[in-house]
Amino acid sequence: MKWIMTFLVGALCGAGALAYFLDVTPSVLFRVPAAAPPLVMPPPPIAMPAPPAVAPTPAPVIVSPSVDILPAAVVAPAPPLLPEAAPPAQHAQQPERVVIKPTENLMIPVAGIKASQLMNTFDQARGSERRHEAIDILAPKGTKVFAVADGKVVKLFNSKAGGLTLYQFDVTEKFAYYYAHLDSYAASVTEGTHLYRGDLVGYVGSTGNANPAAPHLHFAIFELTSEKKWWKGTPINPYPLLRQ
Ligand SMILES: [Zn+2]
Repeated sequence: MKWIMTFLVGALCGAGALAYFLDVTPSVLFRVPAAAPPLVMPPPPIAMPAPPAVAPTPAPVIVSPSVDILPAAVVAPAPPLLPEAAPPAQHAQQPERVVIKPTENLMIPVAGIKASQLMNTFDQARGSERRHEAIDILAPKGTKVFAVADGKVVKLFNSKAGGLTLYQFDVTEKFAYYYAHLDSYAASVTEGTHLYRGDLVGYVGSTGNANPAAPHLHFAIFELTSEKKWWKGTPINPYPLLRQ
């Protein structure tokens, strides 16, 4: 019996200890979870702010720079810029059609001269191997000379043959207009001056190799090369162009 009693007492004590242990353990487990959740809860709030903080941060960094610098400026303007970029290409093609215009609607460059008074001397021989490749418009010395079209004065040059000369590029810079034998330049004309059609260029004279007894404007047009040098180009007959 003693042995049985001892076993029972031991069992009860063991159970009690186990119960106590279990009773304490749960409480510990509960406290731990209880403490853990709060700890876990705070992290979420932290995790929540963090994500927003991460999202806002990347967003502002990516969106604001991209929006301010590129997207915002590019997304909205982009369409305009592209469409505008496309039209310019069309405009660029139109100027090529306009390329013909620098040789159209030209003003007769000598005051008081009518189209019917012009003479086609483009193909006249000059020496044994040269052609005139220009038109001579006879007029009294001092008669006003006008720009045949809009464009910039690129060179004022005093040459042995041409005397006082002026080279003007048309606005497309594909053609040059050449005025020679001038008695003098208009006071306001210098290299770089932008002339409009009809602006005063200078005055008829006989400088260079022109006959002093027959002052005239020697006028030529030539198509520039890609180099756009005022002394290089292919002559075009001004006569039919001035007769238009
Ligand atoms: Zn001439």
